Amino acid sequence: MVIDPSVIARWREAAASGDAQATIDRLHAAIAEEVRRQRPLCVSSGRCCGFEAHGHRLYLTGLETAWTWSRLERRPTVTEVESAMSRGSCPFLAGGCSVHGVRPPGCRIYFCDRDPAGWQSALAERCHHEIKALHDRLDVPYRYAEWRSLLMGFAAADVAS
Ligand code: SF4
Repeated sequence: MVIDPSVIARWREAAASGDAQATIDRLHAAIAEEVRRQRPLCVSSGRCCGFEAHGHRLYLTGLETAWTWSRLERRPTVTEVESAMSRGSCPFLAGGCSVHGVRPPGCRIYFCDRDPAGWQSALAERCHHEIKALHDRLDVPYRYAEWRSLLMGFAAADVAS
């Protein structure tokens, strides 16, 4: 995905703001609380991060991606993101999640455990609503797209800068 570098710069600036940090901290705490309450089964199968093999996709906003991107100790290159796409998985999957502490909200909510009560979708919707409102407050462009295509845009912008 080609993303105008000026849009990425705005997301990154917004992701560094106190409002973004407070909102994301609040969401992470709410997600952790709900996960504690629901106690989904996780056997570390890696299915949640092997997208194609398990028929699902992770969608996020540009601002959420910027939040994670700005906190990575090592950022993936365009080639590494492309390789992950060919493998059908996430570039951060290395045994387990290699960026666990800064993984985005969607990764914290999704479990491959069955969800008959629909708590995961309800929580994802609630978080998304708050993230969308954050975009409005910070007056930054809203873009909702597949995780690796957003990462590709960020990696390409790093090369260009
Ligand atoms: S960031 Fe981590 S948890 Fe999220 S999809 Fe990638 S490897 Fe999985």
